[in-house]
Amino acid sequence: MKNETIYRAKVLCTPSKLPASDYVINPYIGCIHHCKYCYASFMGPFTGHMEPWGTYLEPKKYMSYKLPSKLDQSKTILIGSVTDAYNPAESKYRLMPPILEALKECPAHIEILTKSSLILRDVDLLKEISDLAVGISLSNLDESDNKVIEPGASTAKERLKTLKELHENGIKTYIFIAPYLPGVTSLDLLYDACEGIVDYICVENLNLRGNYKQPMLDIIKKFHPDLYELWLDIYTRKKGGAYWAEVEKKIGILKKKSSIPIISYMYHEKIKKL
Ligand code: SF4
Repeated sequence: MKNETIYRAKVLCTPSKLPASDYVINPYIGCIHHCKYCYASFMGPFTGHMEPWGTYLEPKKYMSYKLPSKLDQSKTILIGSVTDAYNPAESKYRLMPPILEALKECPAHIEILTKSSLILRDVDLLKEISDLAVGISLSNLDESDNKVIEPGASTAKERLKTLKELHENGIKTYIFIAPYLPGVTSLDLLYDACEGIVDYICVENLNLRGNYKQPMLDIIKKFHPDLYELWLDIYTRKKGGAYWAEVEKKIGILKKKSSIPIISYMYHEKIKKL
């Protein structure tokens, strides 16, 4: 990591425009998991960072842990919308324990989304939050792919083990099959891998645009040359609609035979704008 300074944050929760959350908590600016497809990478210039995404991290020092006054059971707070709260630096900074303490009495639904087994450090605190779900993002069981595409995150094996341990501790868990990588992600393999250790499954497709589009295409060209034309079709020739419709069909078939609820977050309208 080239740049690591402390950011003084006035509030813990900020209002969110995301469809599934009312507030977000992002304890870090930047993310050293350095996923090559990360949509949050666009935020660099807005936070004073011109360095490449994945090379900077600012831990936040909170001036207050006070929660918004109008929280109730209908509201959701998501931890980790533009960073991973359990990135490797969290073992040093320990920003999450006081945040979880502050959320103990919170009436809202709390969601934590991570790609890190470090969350297991806080199991005891997590168990004290009444309405909590922990999601682990995983789009591929192939460790060599993951090492290239998500170099700072825990391995697939570690992430599955994390889901298992959280689940065994009575914490509600879900696998977030995201981003669904065309030709790379296997719904069936991931389904089999998480059966019995998650309460539900979410699926979201890869929306590839902006400054991370070309790097991802280059990675596919290098590591999956047989899929390169498919990716060009989807992401540069506006032929994604048919591909994602097929994936949705597969999700529909799986839903029918699955004992685990499956939620699809596929977004065709955004794909059409590429
Ligand atoms: S873990 Fe999430 S926030 Fe961090 S780089 Fe990966 S996609 Fe971005």
